[in-house]
Amino acid sequence: MGFYEFRRQLEYKCELYRTQLTVVDRWFPSSKTCSRCGTVKESLLLSERVFNCEHCNLSCERDLNAALNLAMAVSSTVTACGLDNADVARSEAGIEQIIYRKS
Ligand SMILES: [Zn+2]
Repeated sequence: MGFYEFRRQLEYKCELYRTQLTVVDRWFPSSKTCSRCGTVKESLLLSERVFNCEHCNLSCERDLNAALNLAMAVSSTVTACGLDNADVARSEAGIEQIIYRKS
């Protein structure tokens, strides 16, 4: 199954079950963005498997960091306007409990 068909089926199933489908922009820098402070790196090699933020000192497995950013991107679309949605999402996700810091 290709991505087009996968997305079509997701849209169909979400409509069937009256569930919201949130599609994040394909260029959203989920891997390059720090899931704690939101700083975006200019470059991140694919070989770098651990995301290290020079700004807030976060050290987190690359895919976990990206997944957290995607989760926050989705939750920020349904949070009330006027708040710093990313900060609210970070706090609500309890990220501090599942990341580890550089020693
Ligand atoms: Zn950071």
